[in-house]
Amino acid sequence: MAILTIVKYPHPALKKVCEPVASAEFTTDFQTFLDNMIDTMYADNGMGLAANQVATLKRVFIMDETPELNTPLVFINPEIIKQSEETTEDQEGCLSFPGVMLKIKRPKYISMKALDRHGKEFIFEREDYVARCMHHEFEHLNGIHFFDHLSALKRDLAEKKLKKYLHNTL
Ligand SMILES: [Zn+2]
Repeated sequence: MAILTIVKYPHPALKKVCEPVASAEFTTDFQTFLDNMIDTMYADNGMGLAANQVATLKRVFIMDETPELNTPLVFINPEIIKQSEETTEDQEGCLSFPGVMLKIKRPKYISMKALDRHGKEFIFEREDYVARCMHHEFEHLNGIHFFDHLSALKRDLAEKKLKKYLHNTL
């Protein structure tokens, strides 16, 4: 297993629409890739990570809803099958935007259909903070990231904050 490089904003992979994973792609190499994604997310104490954040343009994200971060879930070719009209606004972060926390409005409830790491379909529904994470990761796969939710003014401020953070830590 290996730790992959998480691309940081404004890397072009973050704006790419990812391709579905075909059934022939569920290979041993793919399983290793998923394990590497999981290790990479945990190495950065993340709750979610989308494949394009490690510059792989496939419709895959991983997530862990436990506070202990010890139960990884793999979502392949996810689809939102239901989402509430009711929204909640809360703080969230993103491993591609280190040092930035933003208040973003998202659906309170999400029901998602996806394939697990062995290609088996499952349905996963959650509310509040976990639904927020599912929606955030799902949007990554469509080339949308949380800066896209901001007004031009707020985005400008957030970009400055991120640049400062990256400058001070790299
Ligand atoms: Zn993110």
